[in-house]
Amino acid sequence: MSRVLVTGGAGFIGSNLVDYLLSKNYEVLVIDNLSTGRLDNISHVLDKITFINQDISQKGIWQLNLKNIDYIIHLAALADIVPSIEQPDKYFESNVIGTMNILEVAKNNKIKKLIYSASSSCYGIPNSFPTNELSDIKPQYPYALTKYLGEELIMHWGLVYKLPVVSLRFFNVYGIRSRTSGTYGAVFGIFLAQKLANKPFTVVGDGKQTRDFTYVSDVIEAVYKAMISNVSNEIFNIGSDNTYSINKIVEYLKGPTTSIPKRPGEPDCTWADISKAKNMLNWKPKINLQDGIKKLMENIDYWKNAPVWDIQSIHQATKSWFKYLGDEK
Ligand code: UDP
Repeated sequence: MSRVLVTGGAGFIGSNLVDYLLSKNYEVLVIDNLSTGRLDNISHVLDKITFINQDISQKGIWQLNLKNIDYIIHLAALADIVPSIEQPDKYFESNVIGTMNILEVAKNNKIKKLIYSASSSCYGIPNSFPTNELSDIKPQYPYALTKYLGEELIMHWGLVYKLPVVSLRFFNVYGIRSRTSGTYGAVFGIFLAQKLANKPFTVVGDGKQTRDFTYVSDVIEAVYKAMISNVSNEIFNIGSDNTYSINKIVEYLKGPTTSIPKRPGEPDCTWADISKAKNMLNWKPKINLQDGIKKLMENIDYWKNAPVWDIQSIHQATKSWFKYLGDEK
C-alpha cells in the first residue's frame, strides 16, 4: 500500500482529496496546523489516517519522523488576499519557508512524486485568453507572490535534487467544505451564506467579470492523475475549460443583488488553457458550473454558521486592499 502525505489535509481541497485517496486504498498521512483547516472536515476518517497537528513553517523533528513516504501532495498554505497584504511575513513563512520544509521531507524520502498546488493568481491580469502556462507571471499581491515563489522552489528542487515534481496551477476551486469562517474570502462561501440569510448577493462591479470556476472533484482527479503519471518537472493549468460571469452565478443561485466597488488588481477574466493537462495527464474536467452549483445547493447547510457579509462589513474588511492596490494612496 503506497503512503501519501497530504499537507493541508484538513482544508477544503485537502479533505476532499483525503476521502478520494482512502477510497482508492492509499495509506494517508495528514499534516495540518488547523489554522484555516478544520478538524470537522476529517473527523469522519480520523481513525483511518495518521493526523499530525504541525505548522509546516517551523522546522523540526516532525520532518525526520516522516518516513517511507511515497507521494507528497503539498496543499498547506495561507490563502486570501487582504491578510496577505497586511501580514506578508506570515505568508512568506507558510507558503515559501513551509514549502522548503516540505521539500526537505521529500529529499529525505525516496518519493515517487511531489505535487504542488500553485495558484492561477500568478498570472495577475493576463494579456491573453485562455491563458496558457507560458504566459507572463505578474503576481499582484503577497499571496500570489508567495504561492509563485513556492512553485519556483519545488521546480528548482526538482532540477537540482532530481525530485519528481509537478506543479498544478488551480483556477478558482469551489465545492463542499470551502472555507466558511474568518476573513472575507472566496465568492461562493459569501454568496451561499447570503442566500441562507435571505440577504442580497454582494456583486462586485457590474458582475460581468468572469472566472474559471473549477469544481473540487475535477481538481482532485487532476491531482491524482498527476500523482500516478510518469510525467514530472512540469507545470499545468487546472481549470474547468470555461469561464463564467458572476451574473451567471446569481442567475443559478437566484436572489436579489447589491453592488460593491470593483476591486483593484482584479482581472476581468480568468480562463485556463488546459490543453497541456489534457494531453499529458489524460485528464479533463467533468463538472460544469450549473452542476457544481446544484451540488452546493444540496449541501448548503454546510454554510449555515458562515459569516454573512454585507456592503459595510466588506468595505471595512477590504480597506487595505483599496489602500495599497488602489489609486488612492
Ligand atoms: N465577487 C463578487 N462578490 C463578492 C466576492 C467576490 O462579485 O462578494 C467576485 C469577484 O469580483 C471575482 C469573483 O467573484 O470576480 C471571484 O472572486 P474570489 O474572491 O472568489 O476569487 P478571485 O478570483 O478574486 O481570486
